[in-house]
Amino acid sequence: MEEKTLNILIVDNDKASAERTRTLLQQEEPRFRFDLACEGEEGLRKAKENDYHLILSDYHLTPAMNGLQLLDALRTSEIGVPFIFYSSDRSLERAVACLRRGVTDYLFKGEENIKELASSIAKAGEGVRPRRENQKLLQQTMEDKNYLENIVVNSIDAIIVADREGKVTLWNKGAEQIFGYTAEEVLGKHVDQFVVPPKFRRTEEELLKLVEKKGGSFLEKEVKRVKKSGEVIYTTASYNLVRDASGKIVGLSAIEKDITERKRLERELKRAKERYRLQYQGEQRRSAYLKIITQVSKEITAILDLEKLLQKVVNLIPALGYYQASIWTAESEKEKAVFQVGGGETIRISRGFSRCFKEGIIGWVACTGKPIIANDVSKEPRYRGKVYPETKSEISVPIRFGSRILGVLDVQSTELKAFTKEDLSALQILADQIAVAMENARLYEEARAKTDYLQSLVRSITDGIVSIDSEGRVVEWNKGAEKLLGYTREEILGKELDVIIVPQDKREEAVSLTERAMSGKEITDFETIRLRKDGWLVNVLLCASPITKDKKFLGAVAIYKDITERKRAEEQLKASEERYRELVNNSVDGVISVDPQMNIILWNPGAERIFWYTEKEMLGQTLMKIVPERYRKAKEKGFAVFRKTGSGPVIGKTLEVDGLRKDGTEVPIELSVSSRKTGEAYIATVIVRDITERKRAEEKIKKKSQELESFVYTVSHDLKAPLISIKGFSELLKASSRDRSEEKELHYLERVMANVDQTNRLIGDLLKLSRVGKTAEQPREVDTLSLAKKIVEELNLQFKIDHPKVRYHNLPVIYTDELHLRQIFQNLLGNAYKFRDENKRLEIEVGCTEKDNIYQFYVKDNGIGIDEKYLEDIFHIFRRLQEKKVEGTGAGLAIVKKIVETSGGKMWVKSAKDKGSTFYFTFPKKVKPTATKG
Ligand code: ADP
Repeated sequence: MEEKTLNILIVDNDKASAERTRTLLQQEEPRFRFDLACEGEEGLRKAKENDYHLILSDYHLTPAMNGLQLLDALRTSEIGVPFIFYSSDRSLERAVACLRRGVTDYLFKGEENIKELASSIAKAGEGVRPRRENQKLLQQTMEDKNYLENIVVNSIDAIIVADREGKVTLWNKGAEQIFGYTAEEVLGKHVDQFVVPPKFRRTEEELLKLVEKKGGSFLEKEVKRVKKSGEVIYTTASYNLVRDASGKIVGLSAIEKDITERKRLERELKRAKERYRLQYQGEQRRSAYLKIITQVSKEITAILDLEKLLQKVVNLIPALGYYQASIWTAESEKEKAVFQVGGGETIRISRGFSRCFKEGIIGWVACTGKPIIANDVSKEPRYRGKVYPETKSEISVPIRFGSRILGVLDVQSTELKAFTKEDLSALQILADQIAVAMENARLYEEARAKTDYLQSLVRSITDGIVSIDSEGRVVEWNKGAEKLLGYTREEILGKELDVIIVPQDKREEAVSLTERAMSGKEITDFETIRLRKDGWLVNVLLCASPITKDKKFLGAVAIYKDITERKRAEEQLKASEERYRELVNNSVDGVISVDPQMNIILWNPGAERIFWYTEKEMLGQTLMKIVPERYRKAKEKGFAVFRKTGSGPVIGKTLEVDGLRKDGTEVPIELSVSSRKTGEAYIATVIVRDITERKRAEEKIKKKSQELESFVYTVSHDLKAPLISIKGFSELLKASSRDRSEEKELHYLERVMANVDQTNRLIGDLLKLSRVGKTAEQPREVDTLSLAKKIVEELNLQFKIDHPKVRYHNLPVIYTDELHLRQIFQNLLGNAYKFRDENKRLEIEVGCTEKDNIYQFYVKDNGIGIDEKYLEDIFHIFRRLQEKKVEGTGAGLAIVKKIVETSGGKMWVKSAKDKGSTFYFTFPKKVKPTATKG
């Protein structure tokens, strides 16, 4: 793979040091190219001008700008190039502060760190480089037999061969040297006698079986042996079966290697390591701590798997020379510290192992939040260690976040006085970082749970939920939005929302809404219109909240609610309200509504025209203002009932009263009052009609008819007087004519007198007609059957007719004015006799049918009938069809009709010439008032 060149800017005020670093790094990595800057400002300028892969800076540059300030300046200029501190400042705190600000790495200046610096640069510059694989060299050599024999004999390892009984057959130089016995001393004797301590002895058979079982060869890692001198040594023993040429097992060989010295050296080494560790202080140690801290600080924000990070920490700490490290969490509700991860030589406990608060050093730290250094645990009263008896010193620091104790970081050493104050501060920094990591993990978990919850919530909401970024592009679009606006999520994500869904005439409004959101203000319940994908407009209610961070506008979340239906309903309501209002306003009638306190709550222009008060004057005023004094008491009483029950004496009725005008005059009005329940209270609405004109017209007619009547009356009277004189003088003339026997004269005079009589009757009938309805009614119970019978008897006598066929049908007893009824019956029955067919026997039927609340009477005859073309005429006064033959004035039917009509009934006839006639008339039923006692 071709390796690319990395351009690096070194910023260091110490030019010599910078040159040195350059040279050293170039030796490490020939593909590095360098540029130098002495001051921060120069570095910044160069970084702006050039495209570096990385900036390597000292911390202290000039008073004007240190390394961290340079970093900040770069970031403000949005130069995100990787930045590594290679600094002579060896303060851990400073390093941690820089790491927290996001530098890629922080290394202490020093040649021992160059390799690491180079690899850090390489890593940062282009990611992890492929590691060069180490080639393993494998060699196989073939040796000759002699050489092998030579080796066996001269080997420094002990090579011992025994036969099946365990008797030694070979004892080489190595064995002589290791165990102190010569071959002569041992050969032919049982090997166990010499070197194996009694406790470990096995019979030869046992050993053979063991080796056979292991497949012919068997290695014991550590075996205790006793030298001829009595000194105890340790060896490794490799046993092999010895076979003869035929393959039969003939014995056992053992190759033993003295490992006493190795063991001693190992112990020594361990001790040296511990010793070294004790000296391992100052810079190097800080360097090592820094390495761990750097790693942790890089990962706390990136790593999502907390456990992995913690494990890494406890694995790194032993590299400082300690024998083990562990991290515990503090569970304050349970008052326990719980083991999470451990690293180092021996970990004898597993996750979930716990210590009660105050139990042991860890329990104390978890409970109090204070660190403990125990440089001799045997003298530490709080020490309870049973699990690790080899521990000599222990350091335990709390993992705290703010005031909360999250856990404990514990490090143990097999040496006394292993820990210094510097360890404490370094470990505390580490613990603080762990705390941040733990808190991040917790927050992340919390946020994830919340996000999951919110996501499911958002999904289930039917309203349209849309989020946009700072440029107005859609980043979230839920199902509700899909449904409301018609675009699918895929279609609209990343598109500029307003361009798509804001209709032309709402553009300006949308711009101002966006400005509002950008200034950090919420938008609540804003009614507007949006454009759907299918081109339809939809009424929406918009709520939006800006999303800001550090006062920077990042975007907004908007909720769109479909209010088309609501809008439509509202408009319908408005329209119907307007129609109603229009009706009320344009009504000629006055419309007045009052509340239960009789206060006016509606007063329309009609009312204003009638009473001359304006709406403004009357709203809130009492209705009594338009009620004349004389009605007020009754009105008050009626209203008290209405207030309680919603009904009253005038509710649902129409009545004529007088109203009081603004100027104090009265106006005749017709009222109809209705009531309506609104909530708990009753509202009364009065429709008022000005009946001044009607009253006036009625008066006029009344006056006219009175005038007419008195005119008829006077005329009739005045006509009667000369008639009487004419008749008187005719009588005198008639007497003198009779004396003179003047036949002709007599005849004429009789004609004159007959005409006078007829004129007299006419005048009499005219008077009768004019009087109909003038006399007060005298209703009583009338038996119509006996009335009809009585009249028929009279008529029989009058017309000298024997036994006409008269049928009475269903004639009731009714409550009415008897005189009127008699007049009707007399006239109709009389006509039946008068206009009978002489060739037939007279047949009459008088009857009645009842319908709802009327009686319908009829009088039917088999007389001469009436030509259909005259059916209407006969009811007009003085109309007769048979002038000469039959006596009469032609006023009868006119009078009857007037009587029927003034009583509220109707009259008509069915007839045809020679077919007889049937006269009908109706009478409304009158209820006889129930008799009162006394
Ligand atoms: P009058 O009986 O004095 O002539 P009415 O007013 O009673 O006056 O009747 C008017 C006319 O109607 C009668 O002249 C007659 O021609 C006709 N009329 C009334 N009743 C009958 C009847 N029952 N049959 C035939 N014609 C009748």
